[in-house]
Amino acid sequence: MTTTATPRPSAPAPTTVGTLLDFRDVAMRFPNGTVALEGVDLTVDRGEFVTVVGPSGCGKSTLLRIASGLESASAGRAEVDTDRIGYVFQDATLLPWRNVRDNVELLAELNGASKADRRRAAAEAIDLVGLSGFERSLPKELSGGMKMRASLARSLTLDPELFLFDEPFGALDEITRERLNDELLRLFVEKSFAGLFITHSVSEAVYLSTRVIVMSGRPGGIVGEFDVPFPMPRDPDLRFTPEFAELVGEVSHALREGHR
Ligand code: ADP
Repeated sequence: MTTTATPRPSAPAPTTVGTLLDFRDVAMRFPNGTVALEGVDLTVDRGEFVTVVGPSGCGKSTLLRIASGLESASAGRAEVDTDRIGYVFQDATLLPWRNVRDNVELLAELNGASKADRRRAAAEAIDLVGLSGFERSLPKELSGGMKMRASLARSLTLDPELFLFDEPFGALDEITRERLNDELLRLFVEKSFAGLFITHSVSEAVYLSTRVIVMSGRPGGIVGEFDVPFPMPRDPDLRFTPEFAELVGEVSHALREGHR
């Protein structure tokens, strides 16, 4: 498995069945003895948007790094059935000397795509994240939300089947975060990737996901799992409904119980 892939702007629509990520009894013990994960069973199927919530230091980022192939589990079986993986971090990680277009082209460039192909993939991705008109802007000229859009666009050029998100909107103000949540769900519906998303925010988790996983404090294990029944794409007013508040309450309760 690799973390990169050749851009396929006209790839056929993915099927909506099948398991893309299958973790069985996964554990992670670092060489210094820290046990970050223990007995983690987790699947992500095509068509799913799975969010993981858990206290700081419980191993959420480690889980994503194992999923991406950046790290190997020290025990258990961690299978990922695609090499088209997108990965977005909390920091947008844009190169400050490159403009938006050149930043968005970066992964395709590293994959050896031709100039014409990466231009086309970048133009499509920039359009999808609503950054058209800012192609020549430098990162320092962008707001935090725009930087994150550029980071999303950069991964979209890989046409990912599995998209990993490590608290991408954690540093943004609430209004920007909510707007980006809606845009991400639009992309999820339009591009049909499966999502594995990490956040501290229970309401963000419930709003975004088809399923929410709750992790315990370190060593992180799964202590709760909730199907989210609301249809996609979600109506922003969903956040103000009693059904939404009730599910947020249940997930928060499981999170508190797992942190004792
Ligand atoms: P989270 O994303 O939930 O905040 P992390 O996955 O980043 O948690 O880390 C889980 C635990 O593993 C933490 O206690 C962290 O300090 C530790 N950890 C992470 N990476 C390493 C490493 N390379 N070596 C040793 N300990 C690590």
